[in-house]
Amino acid sequence: MKPLRVGILGEGQLGAMLAEAGTALGVQCSTLSPSRTYDPQAYDAVTYENESLDFQFIKNLSNSVPYFFPPVSALEIVRDRLTQKNFLASLGIPVAPYVNPALFPSIEDAFSFLGREAIVKLCVSGYDGKGQFRMKTKNDIRKIPEIFRREQSVMEAVVSFEKELSIISVRSRTGEIAHYPLTENIHRDGMLIASIARSKNEPSLKKQAEQIANQILSKLNYVGTFAIEFFEVRGKLIVNEVATRVHNSGHWTLDGSETSQFENHLRAGLGLPLGSTRVLRPTLMINLIGELPTDELFAEIPSARVYRYGKTPAPNRKLGHLNLPIDSGQSAEEMIVDVLSRLGRAPFQRVHSLDE
Ligand code: ATP
Ligand code: MG
Repeated sequence: MKPLRVGILGEGQLGAMLAEAGTALGVQCSTLSPSRTYDPQAYDAVTYENESLDFQFIKNLSNSVPYFFPPVSALEIVRDRLTQKNFLASLGIPVAPYVNPALFPSIEDAFSFLGREAIVKLCVSGYDGKGQFRMKTKNDIRKIPEIFRREQSVMEAVVSFEKELSIISVRSRTGEIAHYPLTENIHRDGMLIASIARSKNEPSLKKQAEQIANQILSKLNYVGTFAIEFFEVRGKLIVNEVATRVHNSGHWTLDGSETSQFENHLRAGLGLPLGSTRVLRPTLMINLIGELPTDELFAEIPSARVYRYGKTPAPNRKLGHLNLPIDSGQSAEEMIVDVLSRLGRAPFQRVHSLDE
């Protein structure tokens, strides 16, 4: 039998990790660049790793290939922060209070209406906290980059959360849904520094997260891996944002779960049975940002699995990540500080300002 062929749109690390999972499954994966043309019949299925690619291109391609996943209709809603929030709110899912600044005479008026500390986020193409501006007082708006006055954005209240969490879920072509456990995420200035995946979650949080995921995935008639980022406030989950793809906070599944988020994405899209999302061992994922430590430094950290993305170093660019089993003698937070200091980094280091 000929191997199944999957095209993966986008040329970043998520696509590379999907392709690697495909190889292990016996699936032939090719990475596709949106700037080129392809024979649509060369693939049994096509997916993407990045929701910011040219939408018209994705839409056209999806109409010409035998199977495209996740559904373009889901991407169309989620790729724009405003349509995404309107969609979540329409399902009664808790989100931070927000407004559409375009409905006000000025950004200043939108800020006054919201009446509290706010973050304005560009509707499309922001990532790692880029394309966002945070303001406490009217005075702060004077420093707002010009782009926020030109481009569509959403303005939302700053949530004082206790923790940030995310759930990675996967839905098959036949509507079967599997969830990984909630992962705790540590961000600095909008960028993910580390994710902590334990084998058990607080039952009420787990229930809320899975209910929200089930509701969204079913409504979108979704196929593939899906991520939801939450804020935890006094035991209740508020959705920050969702992603129609594999997600950085799910990288721990490469070593900590029976089936990785990457393999399950492909399984879902190819109509194969989903793999178990059972946790093999509690795992800590640490992003390697800006520059890669030397191999000698990595070798000093026992049981670390190092993933290098082969990207050119640049400030605040994700160049790789580490997965480590969480050992019972140390808390995950202590481990993060310890590992970062062994790699020659200040704890939770990130170089730059929010509005870069
Ligand atoms: P990524 O693509 O890395 O997930 P992003 O650029 O899409 O990030 P968001 O998830 O919207 O951006 O924001 C990044 C981080 O900024 C959040 O994880 C959180 O730490 C902080 N943040 C964003 N919105 C809010 C908010 N309303 N209240 C408090 N903190 C926020
Ligand atoms: Mg985010």
